[in-house]
Amino acid sequence: MRYGETGFNLEIDLSRGNIERVESDPKLTELHLGGLGTNAKILWDRVPPETDPFSPDNLLIFGTGLLCGTPAPGANRTILTTYSPQTLLMAYSMMGGFWAPELKYAGYDKVILRGKSPKLVYIWIHNDKVEIRDASHLHGKGAVETQELIRQELKEPNAQVAAIGLAGENRVYTASIEQGRSSASRLGIGAVMGDKGVKAIAVRGTKDINLARPAEFFELCSDVLKYIKFRNENPVPNVMTILQGLGSPQEMLHVDEKWHTENFSWGNSRARRKDFWTKEVEDKWKETQENARKRLISCYNCPMKCGAIISLPGMSTYMMKCFSKLTYTMAAFVDSLDFGFRIAQRATEYGVDGFSTPQIMAFAFELKDAGILTDEDFAGCPSDNEGRFYWLLDRIVRREGIGDVLANGTHWAAQQIGKGAEAYAHNNIKKHEQLPLKLGMLNPVYFLMYATGEKINITQIEGQFPQSPFATMEEREDFIKDWIQVPDEKFKQIVLDWEMRGERSNPYYPTPEMSCDIVDWQEKMHYIDDALGVCAGLSSFPLKPPYHIHNYPHFISAATGIDVDEAGLTRVYKRNRTLVRSINVRRGLRRADEVPPEDHWRKRFPELEAKLLDEYYKFKGWDNQGIPTKEALQELDLGYVAEDLEQRGIIKNEQD
Ligand code: SF4
Repeated sequence: MRYGETGFNLEIDLSRGNIERVESDPKLTELHLGGLGTNAKILWDRVPPETDPFSPDNLLIFGTGLLCGTPAPGANRTILTTYSPQTLLMAYSMMGGFWAPELKYAGYDKVILRGKSPKLVYIWIHNDKVEIRDASHLHGKGAVETQELIRQELKEPNAQVAAIGLAGENRVYTASIEQGRSSASRLGIGAVMGDKGVKAIAVRGTKDINLARPAEFFELCSDVLKYIKFRNENPVPNVMTILQGLGSPQEMLHVDEKWHTENFSWGNSRARRKDFWTKEVEDKWKETQENARKRLISCYNCPMKCGAIISLPGMSTYMMKCFSKLTYTMAAFVDSLDFGFRIAQRATEYGVDGFSTPQIMAFAFELKDAGILTDEDFAGCPSDNEGRFYWLLDRIVRREGIGDVLANGTHWAAQQIGKGAEAYAHNNIKKHEQLPLKLGMLNPVYFLMYATGEKINITQIEGQFPQSPFATMEEREDFIKDWIQVPDEKFKQIVLDWEMRGERSNPYYPTPEMSCDIVDWQEKMHYIDDALGVCAGLSSFPLKPPYHIHNYPHFISAATGIDVDEAGLTRVYKRNRTLVRSINVRRGLRRADEVPPEDHWRKRFPELEAKLLDEYYKFKGWDNQGIPTKEALQELDLGYVAEDLEQRGIIKNEQD
């Protein structure tokens, strides 16, 4: 009997219309856990590096995390893996909501799509019955609307439906997959789904998940719930409001946006508006938000309520979460929050990433102001600020006129437009738009996270360690006194010694060695979460979370029966991290790609930054191009990866 997981994947060949239920290898669960780990293994084994993201040979894997569907609070993530049309590297975007537990209750750990359907279809998974159904009547329908239409058509109000909108159908690189309470938005996952001709996957499952040691597991869950309650009642003091609690930033709950609106950049990630947040703005935005927000909502089995149902007169209801409340408003330089809520509704139906898409539009209008794009490119565009953003959004998702170029994101659009447009695509790492954040002094830990992260999402750069030093020794001592999550006491000393000014301050402190240690801890938690399917909002993203390296091994053992301790789990993390890196190295990723935007920090330190990268690579067992060494690969049971990289001349040639 398999515990924690179902032990079966659904393999669907869309070109042939073939559906197979395939038993997975339990040994791979021990080596990689599930979710991201086993997704990466499948991508490595089955999709050659030469494969174009829009080739029928590219896979799109919907992988549930190992703990999804168990009673573990917040274990609800689906990890979507493919080759990204945006970065051309491995994408592993993820969505919360309810889809992953439902798939496991239907009896599957993953849905693996290959090939391309000749016509638009949707997939209906109802326990053992799986069908590919015609979706021609859903052409052009919104991503939220589609979910409801499918539920009605199937007469299954409890089916969980992951769907794309028009953007995905048109292979827009920022296309998302929307699912009830959540979405997988980054890296063009929705474009690959659209390319495969799949409008949606609907799931209904009524089976059970077996637990190896249920009583012990429930005890652990109960401890986590108690700790969540404690943390909700005891916010971390002396840090920014949005860092004090658990979950994703509580943008739907809080109305105070002084910090975001005055510190994040407006337009095409250019300008700060230091005096924006007045009492008048605050009152107006509060009124707008409270009118629009019908209620706060959670993902499956989670006591946090990070999302909200939004409903405004004249438009259908939708779900909003996190920072997307502000991205359109700030990109368009609009002072009204109402605009942000309204355009986000249209964008959600189209199914686009709320981080990149507003930046792409702001980028386009900058190019117009600079004379690089012309009036002809914008023929018919309204002159008012709000109107022109709606107009351009419509053109991008339809790939009409200049929208067809912009639909490929700022990096590729700039290359196509030329005439100096590249300088305006200034906020990218690995060809993908980043947070519109411009800072003063370089922080060595965040430099490494930004430069080397391969998830390209927003939360990958947040973690367990405070973002800035505490002002007084009293505050530092207060912070470390109940810091049970630290894997090693040395992290407490770094917090105690970290100063705001002087020798022990950014950018030279934490030292490169310490920074590598801190980044490694942060990455470890993200990689474990992504293999287990636990929301980062309860683990790798906030300070002092309920899940950590000390209790995770017990969860895994009690759920699956796999005997693992902290050292063993760390080894799995290293294996998964190194495998993801190897997939990307095989796709061409090198040190030259690991560069944060030139203007991300005002003060830069080229020598220090080079040293940070050198140390990080060394720490990981990689060479100075960021390529895992043969020894490091063999040590992590990835000898077959070393062989492949050697055969391709990647290890031998470049390390020589
Ligand atoms: S913490 Fe928030 S985003 Fe995470 S599972 Fe809970 S409700 Fe969803």
